Amino acid sequence: MLKNLIGGAWREVHRPGLPVYNPATGEVLEEVPLSGPEEVDQAVRAAEAAFRAWSRTPLLERVRLMFRFKELLERHFEDLARLVTLHHGKTLEEARGEVRRGIEVVDFALSAPTLLQGRTLREVTGGVDQNLFHYPLGVVAGIPPFNFPVMIPLWMFPIAVVAGNTFVLKPSERTPLGAVRLAELFLEAGFPEGVLNLVHGGKEAAEALARHPGVRAVQFVGSEPVARRIYALAAEHGKRVSAAGGAKNHLVVLPDADLDLAVPAILNSAFGNAGERCLAGSVAVGVGAVGPELLERVVAAARGLKVGPGWEEGVQVGPLIREEHRRRVVGYIQRGLEEGATLALDGRGVEGPGFFLGPTVLSGVSPGMAVGREEIFGPVLSVSFVKTLEEAIQQANAVPYGNMACIFTQSGKAARAFREGVQAGMVGVNVGVAQPLAFYPFSGWRDSFFGDLHPHGPDAFLFYTQRKVVVERW
Ligand code: NAD
Repeated sequence: MLKNLIGGAWREVHRPGLPVYNPATGEVLEEVPLSGPEEVDQAVRAAEAAFRAWSRTPLLERVRLMFRFKELLERHFEDLARLVTLHHGKTLEEARGEVRRGIEVVDFALSAPTLLQGRTLREVTGGVDQNLFHYPLGVVAGIPPFNFPVMIPLWMFPIAVVAGNTFVLKPSERTPLGAVRLAELFLEAGFPEGVLNLVHGGKEAAEALARHPGVRAVQFVGSEPVARRIYALAAEHGKRVSAAGGAKNHLVVLPDADLDLAVPAILNSAFGNAGERCLAGSVAVGVGAVGPELLERVVAAARGLKVGPGWEEGVQVGPLIREEHRRRVVGYIQRGLEEGATLALDGRGVEGPGFFLGPTVLSGVSPGMAVGREEIFGPVLSVSFVKTLEEAIQQANAVPYGNMACIFTQSGKAARAFREGVQAGMVGVNVGVAQPLAFYPFSGWRDSFFGDLHPHGPDAFLFYTQRKVVVERW
């Protein structure tokens, strides 16, 4: 059974647990305890106890420790990637990409001496100067989802901690092993006890964090209903909240698009990470004459993707996270067919014992259908056909989500019209996954995000600090 990390010590949790699986084999790897309010309280108290000294630790010392952490992440890069593949299921190549993207947030956190600089304005009135300083908040908490067990925890605590806060992380109960390894490396880097605490659990622990009077801010990343709930609950309890939710991303292909570029990009977007990505391309929209050829080429290429355990050479699509989730995704395929979509490629025949589902393509999907509107979070691509770019933009805007939208075209004018018209916070032009690098915000809009300041980028430094303005006359 995994242990909680409280004040620098790994503590047993005397509560029921859940299995952590290898999704490619169905084998149980570990058990994760489901902590409750008591364990959350222990972690918050440990973080509170550490805050006074940590927030006064000179910035350069905090940065030095973060450099050591970064060195350890680099040294253990391959092990971390293998751990991600083992308990999440994604391919090793995807896992390496995830770990790299996560380390880039640590690289960005190392810019703290620049990003934490305040502002001064001299002589605002006779003999008076004004200064603005950034202060840490105190104890802050992070609640990540299952689909990036290393990268998303790294979106959270490195920036918070380097800014002088202390942290309580509640990893996903489905993929907790990445966070455990990160916490071990964090301790090895020499951070004082209590600066990072880890509480395993699910809904009960997450809600306890959102309610706890000692927690000043909550960063959540996960599904839309839970993001909405945590946003409301934590705000009701007086906290700052950043809550990133689900998505339904549209990939629009114009007749002038270079299909040699667009088709592989759409494939990677729809089936990479087995579709378990908040930036997964979920609906490909063929505009005008390109529709039939787009469908034909996507289906032919998707048919050739190799499904299997993520650690096997050449595998391109790993398993889904759990059997229940696989059944849910299969349910969506069935629903799509009942609502009038056509099955252009059926991935349901892949044999177990793992939680596999092959790439699936539904065509003739409209925004009124569940598969055209709701997040599926599996290797299922819907294809729909419209006549004009205007219609394609309307279709993307008809869903409540606004995470990402991409366009494939050779026309700058069309790309610009798309950028201006589409109600999504991350826009791709001739790319299938418009993931901002660590020094830009992860900028979901509408029901894909609840709050003001987004994960990573300068937003995150603002989220994890509060400002003090000093008016001085001497
Ligand atoms: P999830 O909402 O089920 O869980 C996320 C976290 O919340 C986990 O730590 C979980 O333990 C906790 N949780 C689950 N149910 C809860 C409840 N009822 N009350 C309080 N806490 C609860 O999400 P998931 O299935 O782990 O992750 C997949 C989802 O995350 C997808 O919808 C995906 O789009 C989204 N996601 C969004 C982003 C983004 O940046 N917008 C990034 C990655 C994933």
